[in-house]
Amino acid sequence: HAAEETFSFQAEVAQLLDLMAHSLYSNKEIFLRELISNASDAIDRLRLERYSRPDLAAAEAEEPPRICVGFDKDAGTITIADNGIGMSRAEVIEYIGTIAKSGTGEFLKALTGDQRTDAALIGQFGVGYYSAFVVADRVVMTTRRAGLAADEAVRWSSDGKGEYTLETIERLEPGTTIVLHLREGEDDLLNSHRLRTIIRTYSDHISQPIIMASEGAEPGESAEDTVNQASALWTRPKAGLGEKDYHDYYRHISNDFADPLAYLHAKVEGRYEYTLLLYIPSSAPFDLWHQQPRHGVRLHVQRVFILEDTGRLMPRYLRFVRGIIDSADLPLNVSREILQGSLAVDHIRSSAVKKVLRLLKDMAANDPGKYAVFWKQFGSVLKEGISDDYGNREDIAELLRFTSTHSPTQEPDVSLHDYVDRMKEGQDEIYYLIAPTLAAATASPHLEAFREKGIEVLLLGEAVDNWVVTGLLQEFGGKRLRSVAQGASDFGDDAEKEAAEKAAEEYAALLGRLKAVLAGQAWDVRVSSRLTSSPACIVANEAVTDLNLAHRLRGSGLP
Ligand code: ADP
Ligand code: MG
Repeated sequence: HAAEETFSFQAEVAQLLDLMAHSLYSNKEIFLRELISNASDAIDRLRLERYSRPDLAAAEAEEPPRICVGFDKDAGTITIADNGIGMSRAEVIEYIGTIAKSGTGEFLKALTGDQRTDAALIGQFGVGYYSAFVVADRVVMTTRRAGLAADEAVRWSSDGKGEYTLETIERLEPGTTIVLHLREGEDDLLNSHRLRTIIRTYSDHISQPIIMASEGAEPGESAEDTVNQASALWTRPKAGLGEKDYHDYYRHISNDFADPLAYLHAKVEGRYEYTLLLYIPSSAPFDLWHQQPRHGVRLHVQRVFILEDTGRLMPRYLRFVRGIIDSADLPLNVSREILQGSLAVDHIRSSAVKKVLRLLKDMAANDPGKYAVFWKQFGSVLKEGISDDYGNREDIAELLRFTSTHSPTQEPDVSLHDYVDRMKEGQDEIYYLIAPTLAAATASPHLEAFREKGIEVLLLGEAVDNWVVTGLLQEFGGKRLRSVAQGASDFGDDAEKEAAEKAAEEYAALLGRLKAVLAGQAWDVRVSSRLTSSPACIVANEAVTDLNLAHRLRGSGLP
C-alpha cells in the first residue's frame, strides 16, 4: 500500500472552506442535501456507465441503488454512504482536491453576505461537497471507482484547513462513504428524528431510496427503512401532486433556491410516448450567457437518467428551461451524437417548445406581473428565437415586450398587439427606433415629430433587437415595421407637406450649399417636418441598412 500523502488545497478552495466553516452556519443542515445529491448523481452515473460498458456490467452484479445515512452518538459522527460510481485516486484529486472547476471562483464572487442566500448558492455553483465543513471539523471519505480492484480504493481526509491527505486502501464494494466528524456543539444533529426531518425537507424527491436505521429498533436489531418518497415525481399521476411537490422537485433538480415561475407536466401518448416536466425559473442563473451553461433539461429513458443537456433537447433561445424529459422511445445507451439525428428527439423537442411557448402565453395573459418578471430575466434570450426558430416566429413575436414612447416608465411592457391596437387613424406601420442603448433611443431627435403627433414608437436598445426586427421579416400581423431613422417621413398631413415643400423652395440655396459640402458623404439634404426642436439629424437611406445596424455590423467585423 502506498503511504499517506499530503496535498494542499488551491487558494480558492481554502478560502471557500474557511467560509463554509465560519459564515454559513445559520443554514447548516444543507450539508446533508448536498452530500445526498452527490450520492444520487453517483448512482445515476454508475447505472448509465453500465449501459455503455458491457465489461463493467459483466464484472459486477447490479446492486439495487441505495443511499444510507447513519450516525454514531459516541463517536460524534454522521455517515453518508452510496453504492454509486465512486472515484479513482486521480478523480478525487481532480474533483475534490485541487479544483479546476469554474464554479468556485464564480461562487466567491456571487456571495452576498446574507447567510440564507449564500447557503442556497452552494448547490448552484457546484461546490456542494465542501458544505460538509459547515458542520464537521474533519471529513474522511473512502471511495472505490466501479471497475477498479478492491485494493485501488482511496481514503481522503481533511480538517478543511488548507491540506488534505490521500491514502490507497482496500474497500470491498464500489461506491463512496463519507464520515463527518462533527464540530463541538453539533450534537443536536446526532438524532434520528432530526436527520429524518432534514432528509424529508430537502431530499424527499431523490429518486433512489435514502435509508436509515429504524427508529426505536432494539439494540442489535438491524431494521432499516426508507426515509424519502424515492419515486420519480413525473411518473406519479398529476392528480396526486400539489404545487409544493412540483416546487420542491424543481429546487432539487435545478439547485435553485427560489420557486419556479411556472411549470408544466404532460404525459404524451401516440406515435411517441414521453413525459415532460418543464419549469420556468424565476431568476437567471449566473451562467445564462456562458457558451456552455451547466444546467438544462434532463433526459431520462424509461426513468433512467441519461444526460443533462443544453441546446439539443431545447433550442438555445429556451436554454433557461429546466426539467425532465422522459422518453420511452430512445435506447438506454443513447449518446449526445445519437440525440442529434433522432426523429423521436426532434418530435419531442418540437412539442416541448410549443408547450413552453403556450405556457408563457398563458402567463402573459393571466398574470402580467409574473410575466414581467419572466421578461426581465429571460426576455433577451427569448428574443433570439425570432431569428432562430422560423416555425414558431409568430408565437414568439406575441411574447415580445418593448419599451415605447407610450410607456410611462422605462419598463418593457408593450406588446406588438398593444401597439397595433393603439395605432393612430391612418397609421399603417409599426414605428421603432434602434439605438445602442435604451437611453440613447429615448433621447434621439428622430422621435421629436412622432412625440409631437402622439405616434407611438418602440424603443429598442439591445444588440439582439437588430435581429428581432430583421427576423420579424419586417412585419407583424400584416403591419410593416419601419425604423423612424429611415427614409422620408411621410406621416404628416397635407398642410405639413405643403409647408415642407415651401420651406424647401425657400432654403434651396442653403440645401444646395450643404449638398456640395457633404458631397460623397450624404445622399441628400432635405427639409424635413420630422424635427421640432433639433436643427438637423442624420437619416438612413430607405434602401440601405439602418444606420445603427450598419454601425454594429461594422463593429462586429461583419461586412
Ligand atoms: P457538483 O456535485 O455540483 O459537481 P460537488 O462539490 O457537490 O459539486 O461535487 C464535486 C464532484 O465530486 C462531483 O461532481 C463528483 O464528480 C464528485 N463527487 C462528490 N461526491 C461523490 C460521490 N458520493 N460519489 C462519486 N463522486 C462524487
Ligand atoms: Mg453536488
